[in-house]
Amino acid sequence: LSEIQLRGVHKWYGHYHALDDINLSIAPREKVVICGPSGSGKSTLIRCVNRLETHESGRIVVAGVELDHDEKRVEAIRRDVGMVFQQFNLFPHLTILENCTLAPMWVKKMPKKEARQIAMHFLERVRIPEQANKYPGQLSGGQQQRVAIARALCMNPRVMLFDEPTSALDPEMVKEVLDTMVALAGEGMTMVCVTHEMGFARQVADRVIFMDRGRIVEEGTPDEFFARP
Ligand code: ADP
Ligand code: ADP
Repeated sequence: LSEIQLRGVHKWYGHYHALDDINLSIAPREKVVICGPSGSGKSTLIRCVNRLETHESGRIVVAGVELDHDEKRVEAIRRDVGMVFQQFNLFPHLTILENCTLAPMWVKKMPKKEARQIAMHFLERVRIPEQANKYPGQLSGGQQQRVAIARALCMNPRVMLFDEPTSALDPEMVKEVLDTMVALAGEGMTMVCVTHEMGFARQVADRVIFMDRGRIVEEGTPDEFFARP
């Protein structure tokens, strides 16, 4: 049984063939790293899984939900799939705590008190509980990205998607975010990460997928993958 399944998926931007016949099955708890040159469709692929983009043909099934044009299903996907972006995407006019309680309160209708308890739990997990009442602009990039991870975890997702989570960070902050992701990987969640951090891939990936021009052109375990000449 797959947690994420794509069958014959195609995506076009106008005349540009961004995803060209993608077939991919990801098992529950599997950790997959997607790499490949800029513009090869990595971001488009995971954005289709989260329904931030729509595919034109083929099938995508995520956490037991088939992604078609039924908006109810899109809501289900947003509850079950957490996403972390390159640019953090925190709300600048909300505190860290408010950023983390927003979706649980509005999407899950969770009472404020419970949402705050859960948010504090995850802010402790990413080791920044003391920042809870600050605004995103008062935090470093690495701290903001850890908030973004905590925010996603507050929804108790089955699947976490990461789109180049360390690419916008100053080099000295990359490690703190990767350490958080490594810790998360140890907990049995399904994870799909677009990243150029090959050390991370070796450490946590069950499978590495290499994309080029909208296609999956190589895949294997990190050992197989990095052993290739
Ligand atoms: P990657 O994540 O591998 O860098 P993307 O999935 O972001 O690749 O992009 C794949 C290709 O699709 C790129 O050539 C990009 O310019 C193009 N593209 C991405 N998003 C859009 C969009 N919204 N409209 C038009 N073209 C897009
Ligand atoms: P990435 O880091 O994924 O390669 P990009 O810089 O390619 O990001 O894209 C950033 C944003 O701009 C994405 O939301 C993408 O969908 C959009 N985008 C990328 N290329 C194009 C394009 N040619 N036309 C319109 N939107 C685009």
